[in-house]
Amino acid sequence: MHSLPSQASLYIHIPFCSTICPFCDFTKLKSNDSLFSSYIDACCQEIITYQHSPSIELVSIFFGGGTPSCLPISYISQLLKTIQATFNCSQIQEITMEINPEDVSLSYLKSLQDLGFTRLSLGVQTFNPDECEFLGRGHTVTQSYQALDHINQFNFNLNIDLMFGLPNSSLKNLEYSLTQALDYNPCHISSYSLTIEPNTPFFKKQVSKASHDTDFMFYSFLIDFLTQQDFYHYEVSSFSKLNYDCIHNKRYWQFDSYIGIGLGAHSFISPYRYHNQTSLNTYIKSPTPAYFLADFQPLSQQDLMSENIIANLRIPSGILFEDYYDRYNIDFEQIFATQISDLSQQNLIKKTATGIQTTKKGLYLLDNVCLSFL
Ligand code: SF4
Repeated sequence: MHSLPSQASLYIHIPFCSTICPFCDFTKLKSNDSLFSSYIDACCQEIITYQHSPSIELVSIFFGGGTPSCLPISYISQLLKTIQATFNCSQIQEITMEINPEDVSLSYLKSLQDLGFTRLSLGVQTFNPDECEFLGRGHTVTQSYQALDHINQFNFNLNIDLMFGLPNSSLKNLEYSLTQALDYNPCHISSYSLTIEPNTPFFKKQVSKASHDTDFMFYSFLIDFLTQQDFYHYEVSSFSKLNYDCIHNKRYWQFDSYIGIGLGAHSFISPYRYHNQTSLNTYIKSPTPAYFLADFQPLSQQDLMSENIIANLRIPSGILFEDYYDRYNIDFEQIFATQISDLSQQNLIKKTATGIQTTKKGLYLLDNVCLSFL
């Protein structure tokens, strides 16, 4: 067996959703109570494969999906008990659940609090009723307001998810959504541009999104608006009040170890990256992760470094030359001198005394910036 890390974050993927949104290309399926029990049992079996002495110390746990909040609380509790029996949970700094407005009730929130959840990520997407309907969400704007009223009766760190770049949207709509969100004192906002992914109903219907120029205008507005409200733009799509950045997600971008449990979940234990089965039946029958298969191959140094570059370019601290010398024994500045010069001239990155950082324009065009270094 390959060696396990001493410390990691844990992601639990709950693939069920009560409504399938027409823009979504995540690994998910229509919620089905009859599958919950066998799926959660399979996840627990997978968790147990990481049993090790001494136990891996967890830094954070993140329940994502899909819609984890469509699960009855007893399943969440079963997962947490298995996690606690398998890992060292004494140093956990954050436990997050993604939650949809239609699932929020005072009793559900109380149970999450009692189970030790510290952070909720609420999928609001927009406070404009027309936009909410267009997005085919399983909730109304009124339900989002009710959910926020309920959440504010507890002490969770709150993230609100918002989308921009919808067809026929306007800066006024985006400003309205942001203003409404801030009324509920979230300490974190995540905001993504609508993308039309292949094989989604929006793609088949040929829904066209805002043009690049308009989309960039929305993105710039979003950054300016939130930074003026004392939010710190600490990743492409993530904004937080000081010291409220998402510990779990930051570990992805800092290239730290994480273990993904569940259907299609990804894991990274340097130098290994692997993902689980994406067929529900296959996963339930055999939830052992690829990490424990004998012929599993590590990433090459080149692939590792490329992934490290992509992860680092998402965050403002960017790439520190010294890190790459320590990790890969290379002079980053010298090897990538041409790319650094070209991208700086296009105002996509800026050079600092110790490394390079992605600019606002570069964050928007991140794929192009990353490609230059691969
Ligand atoms: S609820 Fe979330 S995961 Fe489920 S279909 Fe909608 S966007 Fe996708």
